[in-house]
Amino acid sequence: MTIFTTERVARLLPRVREIVLEEIIPLESAYLHGSFRTLEPQLNALRKRVKAEGLWTPHLPTSEGGLGLTLTEFGMISEALGHSPLGHYVFNCQAPDIGNMELLHQFATDAQKHTFLEPLIRGDIRSCFAMTEPEFAGSNPVNMATTAVREGDEYVINGHKWFTSSADGSAFAVTMAVTNPAEAPHKRASMIIVPTATPGFHLVRNIKIMGDEGDSYASHAEVRFENCRVPVVNLLVKEGAGFALAQHRLGPGRIHHCMRFIGICERAFDMMCKYAVSRELGNGKPLASKQIIQSWIAESRAEIEAARYMVLHTADGIDKHGAQVMKESISTIKFFVANVLQHVLDRAIQTHGALGITDDTVLAYWYRHERAARIYDGPDEVHKTVLARTILKQYGYDVESA
Ligand SMILES: Cc1cc2nc3c(=O)[nH]c(=O)nc-3n(C[C@H](O)[C@H](O)[C@H](O)COP(=O)(O)OP(=O)(O)OC[C@H]3O[C@@H](n4cnc5c(N)ncnc54)[C@H](O)[C@@H]3O)c2cc1C
Repeated sequence: MTIFTTERVARLLPRVREIVLEEIIPLESAYLHGSFRTLEPQLNALRKRVKAEGLWTPHLPTSEGGLGLTLTEFGMISEALGHSPLGHYVFNCQAPDIGNMELLHQFATDAQKHTFLEPLIRGDIRSCFAMTEPEFAGSNPVNMATTAVREGDEYVINGHKWFTSSADGSAFAVTMAVTNPAEAPHKRASMIIVPTATPGFHLVRNIKIMGDEGDSYASHAEVRFENCRVPVVNLLVKEGAGFALAQHRLGPGRIHHCMRFIGICERAFDMMCKYAVSRELGNGKPLASKQIIQSWIAESRAEIEAARYMVLHTADGIDKHGAQVMKESISTIKFFVANVLQHVLDRAIQTHGALGITDDTVLAYWYRHERAARIYDGPDEVHKTVLARTILKQYGYDVESA
């Protein structure tokens, strides 16, 4: 319980936690030693049950079949789901689909909603988001080479993307491409919905992440667009709106990620404590008797508590005042919590000794895949700059004019 816990969340959380503990975590071992695709029949059966219980797409308004939660309330659900790498998928609120659902819900036309959003909400299809390009710094995505040239009623898309998460098996990619090259940098690109079955959409490969290629939903692809033709009605909002839409997508997205990170921290923390009291070093004394382990436990506890309050405070601010007002807080939580995650995971692995780096627990999986938390959705350094710039302005120094 936190000061942000509402009656609604207090009612939902016990059941969500129960499903994660009793139904989802038992599937992890098969995932870690097999693949996402082989586990899909079991995951889909579980998804059906979650839907039947009325817990499906918890992030969406009730009019869209969701639970009508505030961002703060959903954050708390997201933390509970974050205890397993499979949690969000089972409840149909996994990235990148969650971002695409929110984007389409807010900005798509009725026809786009019917074709793309409704099946996504039902869980019949998955989607991906293709913005980053290997040839350009993703931290400053205004420099991109992918183009969408209008020919009659179609856009012809050519370009090269990578780290298009979950493209493997996706039905469509929300794609950023330059439509207006003569405009100012932030008004050059547009978002266009590209069905992945369109001729000219090529999934080149799933990129190995620290040795793990992944598959299906759990993957990050390199993609090429070669004379890929889509109808102009697949444009989101208007030409040149791409970056403004990307900003909309990122504000709540950082709350979702950070609360998921906290869920991972809590699970790793629990595993660390359980192992510390059960692993006997000799003379009947457990690992927990060592001060250095106690110190890791205390430090981790303090860091997780601080992280949670920072994120919920930011989410509450977004709920009440909007993301723009909370811009610096959003940057602060993104780098702070990603680093807490890395520290807590590292201590949990160290406590487990050799076991910690095997796939016999979930820790090594997270260590491999969540190192990226400090890179995606803005690398640490970019967020630190945003925060420092605001602070230094108050001291009369303008970083931008330096
Ligand atoms: C697991 C994962 C999933 C992803 N999923 C998606 C996805 O679904 N769709 C998509 O389009 N993209 C995705 N990305 C890409 C992600 O958005 C980019 O990796 C990110 O924007 C950083 O871009 P870059 O990798 O090109 O690094 P660069 O921009 O080349 O930066 C390299 C490094 O330089 C430093 N740096 C950058 N800017 C600054 C600065 N201003 N000041 C100081 N230092 C700086 C940082 O340390 C940074 O890590 C994903 C990435 C990962 C790792």
